[in-house]
Amino acid sequence: MGTQLTVDEVSDALIEARRGLSTLPKEPLPRLTSTGVGLLHCRACRALLADSHSSATSATLATKPHYECLNCGDVFAWVVRVDRELQQLTTQLLSEPRVVERWRRGRAAELDARIEHGLRIRDWCQVPANRRRLQRRRRLGFLGGDSVAELLYHLALGLYPLVTERASLSGRVSSGPGSLAELTRVYDSCRDLAL
Ligand SMILES: [Zn+2]
Repeated sequence: MGTQLTVDEVSDALIEARRGLSTLPKEPLPRLTSTGVGLLHCRACRALLADSHSSATSATLATKPHYECLNCGDVFAWVVRVDRELQQLTTQLLSEPRVVERWRRGRAAELDARIEHGLRIRDWCQVPANRRRLQRRRRLGFLGGDSVAELLYHLALGLYPLVTERASLSGRVSSGPGSLAELTRVYDSCRDLAL
């Protein structure tokens, strides 16, 4: 277990949890960039390639979508061809168990860390002295209109999708919660605390 949480960290996490929920149902904006943006580099100068969508003007929109190096101009390639190659490469990589396993471990470890953090927040709030500190903050208007119990409920709701995703990636990775039964208990205990 790392360092002790501070009331600031806990307040921020609870406010963040509520904000996360209120933005959850919104659909992400459709992306107008091509797959390789942020991935592909120029072979000559190593600068990231741009695609014609991201720097769209009426002139570039009139041409077929392409990648180009805006730095040295050495690279110019049609998006449709490059993206097809990227897709093939991704499919090929995903057929290799070692690659999938590495991805699974990375994602599971990330989820474990986030769930673990949520649990630390919950445990911190269960200590009466800490709870009083939070209540005081709330009375001073630092936590918005919600009660501490409501904020904890938001925290639990925010953890729920992480817990279900983690359960779908079978196998224990780090010291975090592993089995579905354990994860379900985590969720229930967050919810019970809040209600
Ligand atoms: Zn270049």
